[in-house]
Amino acid sequence: MNQKVLIVGAGIIGCCLADELTRRGATVTVIDAAEVGSATSAATFAWVNSNDKTPSEYSELNVLGLQAHERSAARGGGRWFHQIGNLQIAQNDDEMKALELKVTRLTSNGYDVKLLTADDVRELEPNLQSPGLAGGALYPKEGWIDTPTMCTSLLNRAISAGASFEPYETVTALGSKTVTTTTADGSTRHYDADIIILAAGNGIRPILATTGIDFPTLEQTGNGAGGDAKNAGIGIISTTGPVDSGIRHIVRAEGIAMRPARNGGITFADHPTGGKWDLDDPRVWTVPTLLLERARELYPALRTVATENVSLGIRVLPEDGLTIADWVDENHSIYAVATHSGVTLSAHLAEVVAEEVLTGERHKSLRTFGLSRFATVAH
Ligand SMILES: Cc1cc2nc3c(=O)[nH]c(=O)nc-3n(C[C@H](O)[C@H](O)[C@H](O)COP(=O)(O)OP(=O)(O)OC[C@H]3O[C@@H](n4cnc5c(N)ncnc54)[C@H](O)[C@@H]3O)c2cc1C
Repeated sequence: MNQKVLIVGAGIIGCCLADELTRRGATVTVIDAAEVGSATSAATFAWVNSNDKTPSEYSELNVLGLQAHERSAARGGGRWFHQIGNLQIAQNDDEMKALELKVTRLTSNGYDVKLLTADDVRELEPNLQSPGLAGGALYPKEGWIDTPTMCTSLLNRAISAGASFEPYETVTALGSKTVTTTTADGSTRHYDADIIILAAGNGIRPILATTGIDFPTLEQTGNGAGGDAKNAGIGIISTTGPVDSGIRHIVRAEGIAMRPARNGGITFADHPTGGKWDLDDPRVWTVPTLLLERARELYPALRTVATENVSLGIRVLPEDGLTIADWVDENHSIYAVATHSGVTLSAHLAEVVAEEVLTGERHKSLRTFGLSRFATVAH
């Protein structure tokens, strides 16, 4: 039977779902309060990995995510999945010892990683300058996603296959098979559907609050919402202008994580700084310069460029930091997908969630990622 599916949210999760569901014959409508890929999916480091993630079920889910991106590369995904490998470097003997332990642990779990000597690292990254270089580890299957290209391409593919997209419409109310929106000009619209999928990231919690459901994601205002490491919801991603830096991999070292960017520059993640920011904390804006200075010590060619783009991202964080993919209601008409690591997980989640909503079959990888693990949700 042809199912009418309404997806709320055109981030990486919603766009992947739109593509997967239209491919499987569903009639799909995607609604977004803004434009395609404009929220958290626009302010992400976009590193595809399962690098030391815990617990083991989450690590396995992320490995499936990586494998799903490899499969999707055969269907056009090679344009956005840059599987260039991740190189973690050790710049003194202590760091090398810690890295050796990590590599032993990951190898025993079957994760693809290779320990490198300092000479191996220099061969892989000839432009890297590191006087104390002790060695490194290469994770050859890891890579990064060009999220604007991925979101736009998948949504366009879905539209070509019959889906429709309604941007600048905010979902304000939810019924079991109906959705009410407010459009940019303030008018109200109603949609009906057999299945509603909430892929609205940090918007899921407020949408479900209108129905009296307390959805267990953390409120990420950044202003006293928690303040502990699990609640470090605000992230800052910065990118330089185009530069011939010679950086060939995702490169991580103490205090720095960087990768090539879609504009020919270099993108930095702020998590190595360990910063936990309030949105209105002016110190946030010193981070891009700090990271660029650190990177210049490793790659002197970066002295010729400046930061050209900075994005504040608000992480989508279920209370336990893991993934939620489950029906919200007993009638199985409203499904929610909320996750950090959403870039890594998007292609796999789209496959298994599409399967579940269309056939009722729940994939074994989702077994521990349901709502029943949270006390606050009646389910
Ligand atoms: C700083 C940072 C670094 C990260 N690094 C990585 C990484 O290296 N690797 C990785 O795998 N993941 C990473 N992540 C996480 C990843 O980016 C997210 O998990 C992912 O982007 C979430 O995608 P999403 O589609 O669920 O949400 P979003 O991209 O936020 O999309 C949700 C959409 O829903 C829409 N919406 C919200 N409310 C409503 C409403 N009421 N009505 C209509 N539309 C609505 C929004 O406009 C938005 O377009 C990082 C995140 C951050 C912030």
